[in-house]
Amino acid sequence: MTDPVPLLIVEDDAPIRALLVSALAAAGYQPFEAATAREALAALAEVGPQAVLLDLGLPDRDGLELVPLLRGAGAAVVILSARDATAEKVAALDLGADDYVTKPFDLDEVLARLRTALRHRAAPGAVTGNVRAGGVEIDLLARIVRRDGHEVHLAPREYAMLAELAVHAGKVVTHAHLLRTVWGPGHEEDVEYLRVAARGIRRKLEDGASGAPSLIRNEPGVGYRLVV
Ligand code: CA
Repeated sequence: MTDPVPLLIVEDDAPIRALLVSALAAAGYQPFEAATAREALAALAEVGPQAVLLDLGLPDRDGLELVPLLRGAGAAVVILSARDATAEKVAALDLGADDYVTKPFDLDEVLARLRTALRHRAAPGAVTGNVRAGGVEIDLLARIVRRDGHEVHLAPREYAMLAELAVHAGKVVTHAHLLRTVWGPGHEEDVEYLRVAARGIRRKLEDGASGAPSLIRNEPGVGYRLVV
């Protein structure tokens, strides 16, 4: 048996912390807790967590300041964020956080975000082959996209956006990152470009009948995510 993966929960709200501890333990992880930034930094050195669930509103320090320190120590970082804190989420992602969940959160979603963040932490940049999302297959080497086995033609920007999302499959990718990568420096503000490209991708690759986005999810004010 392998040792359980050590995780750190940084949250000053005791009931939320207790809920996360029991959920993570039940999922087979080894959870450690910190109620302050000070405790978090002590635990970081002591237990070497592979991932950290980080509340940004801490009593002794802005949680954002911890993000580079946690990432520098090699831990994946998932932010626990208030619903309306869009700017904070973007700032945390820009500082290197892997993802976020919005409070009040769904425990299954917390576990899914953690699994994805741990997977990307274990193999950063290793996504070079095929990425599957439902009936869609993105072949990153051949630059071919198939839907239900049939090749689908995407415009160059649509493909580039989809490929960037596929490289980060399951994780949110910020507007600024997508615009910089796909359109180049100087386009970080042109969010409308993304809306147009996303619309094209969805039209060609999603099942329009169901109505709900099934392939790429819009994270309002933050970015897009490939649903896997
Ligand atoms: Ca708090």
